[in-house]
Formats: sequence, C-alpha cells, structure tokens
Amino acid sequence: MDLPLPAVTPETAPYWDGARDGKLLLQRCLACRAVRFYPRRTCPACWSPDVEWIEASGRGRIASFTVIHRPPAPAFAGRVPYVVALIDLDEGPRMMANVVGDRALEVAIDDAVEVIFEARGAVALPQFQRSAR
Ligand SMILES: [Zn+2]
Repeated sequence: MDLPLPAVTPETAPYWDGARDGKLLLQRCLACRAVRFYPRRTCPACWSPDVEWIEASGRGRIASFTVIHRPPAPAFAGRVPYVVALIDLDEGPRMMANVVGDRALEVAIDDAVEVIFEARGAVALPQFQRSAR
C-alpha cells in the first residue's frame, strides 16, 4: 500500500514545486514581514493578502516530538517506529515533519535539525534529519 500524498492546492503549489527542486519555501507577508507556515492566502498576523515566497535555510530545532509505534494506517506499517516532530525553523515558523535518518529515534528536544526531501510519487516531502550543530 502506498503512503498518502499531499493535496496540492493553488495556495500550496509553490511550496510543493520548491520541495521538488530541493528548496524549503516559506511565505513572507509583504505588509508586516511575518514569515509563516503553512502556506495560506492571508497573513495570520495582519490579514494582508500580499505575499512573497522566500527560501528557508532548512535549519531548525526540535520543539517537541513523539515516536509512533503503532501505524495510523496500513500504509505506515513498514515505517514504524518513526518520529513525528514539531520543528521551530530558524526563520520563525513551526512545522510538523518526520525526523529521519541515522539516530532519528534518539532525537531530543532542542536538537538541531536540517531539512531533506523525501521523494514520494510526483512530490517531495520536506523531512528533517539531526545535524551536528
Ligand atoms: Zn502580515
């Protein structure tokens, strides 16, 4: 069974296009400069619809995490145990992703992580791995 794919919408298409090119793109409000994730039509800080896309550093720190031992759907049976984390990006927004790679299961709060891109069907999913920082 295949893993589920994200639903690409007009608001999120630049994000997924960037991920396919190996770039983590975030929206930045042109009115108040707030950087946000997830992609959306209006700024959650000031409600401006004026936005630009910026390339994030791909670096952040673990704010919280959990280790999934019981697959939430049959498609995930081959992936357990795996880590779901909240990551505070250096640019400010918090995003949820998996922590993957060597020693992923040893992850701890405040660990430094960096983005990698997991190919899945026609898309690439931003995921994170622990870094030495
Ligand atoms: Zn704003």
